[in-house]
Amino acid sequence: MIRRLKLFAACALLGAGCTDAPAPRLVLLLTVDTLRADELGAYGSSRGLTPHLDELAGQSTLFTAAYAPAAFTLPSIAALLTGHHPEALGIRSNESGLPIGVPTLATALGESGWQAGAVVGNFVLRRESGVARGFQRFDDDFPSHEAVRHWPERDAANTTDAALELLDGCTQLPAARCFLWVHYQDPHGPYEPPPGWRDRYLAAERAAPDGRRQLPVGRDHRGLGAIPTYQYMEGRSEVAWYRAGYRAEVAYMDEQLGRLVAGIEARQRWRDAVVIFAADHGEALGDHGVWFAHGAGLTDDQVRVPFMIRRPGEPPARRDDVATLLDVFPTLLAHLGVASETAGRSGRDLFARAAAAGASVPYMATLGALPESQFALVADGFKFITVERDGVFDGRLYALGREDTELGAASPQLAAQMRERLGRLRSGVVPVTEAATAELSEADRERLRDLGYIERGEESASHP
Ligand SMILES: [Zn+2]
Repeated sequence: MIRRLKLFAACALLGAGCTDAPAPRLVLLLTVDTLRADELGAYGSSRGLTPHLDELAGQSTLFTAAYAPAAFTLPSIAALLTGHHPEALGIRSNESGLPIGVPTLATALGESGWQAGAVVGNFVLRRESGVARGFQRFDDDFPSHEAVRHWPERDAANTTDAALELLDGCTQLPAARCFLWVHYQDPHGPYEPPPGWRDRYLAAERAAPDGRRQLPVGRDHRGLGAIPTYQYMEGRSEVAWYRAGYRAEVAYMDEQLGRLVAGIEARQRWRDAVVIFAADHGEALGDHGVWFAHGAGLTDDQVRVPFMIRRPGEPPARRDDVATLLDVFPTLLAHLGVASETAGRSGRDLFARAAAAGASVPYMATLGALPESQFALVADGFKFITVERDGVFDGRLYALGREDTELGAASPQLAAQMRERLGRLRSGVVPVTEAATAELSEADRERLRDLGYIERGEESASHP
């Protein structure tokens, strides 16, 4: 009887379509750095890079139009973990810190008795960034160094090993319910897949119309018409060489993610596992004149992300209603029956009754990535991007998913409405209470300067 009552309560939360699914004992949050949605077979790619993610998509609700709030790591991940816009958190760059006292998925689940552990492969997400808060175990060991800049990082094989070890540590606890966050770094540049992997994709990339194009080397990390300095390797300047490297990194990550899933299956923990999968942002691969970079733009190549949620007992589905990474927080907590404070959060429960008939209204910003500010909004099948230079706003209007054609000149009234709506959204993003104190210490800041992550005398500089 008690079990039936519990099931009834869970069904009330889930809305229609509720089945007799076992109560989850594992929640897996899988995030991948720098992964464009359209690299996945489940999102229409025919390259076959992601068989394991495509299999996960076949067990999940996949959101075809999902957006990150920014095109670089810390703002996007902090928003996912808290449900707040990066600006509300005071996060404008990768050297910001998550404010003390803001509830995260880990703190909220921890208060409900979940054990929380995390493994991260991106140095930006080291514990000093504040994203470790609430995790009983947070593994930010970075055993290797990336090419070119030699910054600390962790590759996918090592990330999977560490994640399985962490899971074993959790499941050995009696009656434990485990929340495990795993962040794969590999598609992030410099593109340096394991030996031999790039060659698998080189011929196909050279056959692309611009595959044999030679690019100049840029002077910064933005990739405007040139190879970013942090990507430039082995004296290479051919487009195909870099694109093949990116695609090899995606395929390698997918293989290791598949190994993680197989490891969880072998531990009898997959069947009832709730899984949230997302990327923190995308990557420009020549789109809009930007090469092998992200962070300084709000076009779909940089901010549209793969996003899916697996709920055991629920049939797979594809949803076209627009979603944002800010929806993860309310959706997951509602699904697990964990109470959360909704004040100041704009995300929605994606599985609330009739949610599919609604839509999120993603608001995006370049934050501190550029001297001039860019802001964007997705609403009613359109996307509007503004660039602010010296107090003057220049707006561009697109049909969603069609950023090759600017519509503002033909539809000035619609552009004006979107501009006004964007302005209202911006003014509605207010700082989270007591958010003024970031955790980043001066010692950590000095370490970042030594690594070249923050340029001396340029505190606002941000790096993807
Ligand atoms: Zn990232």
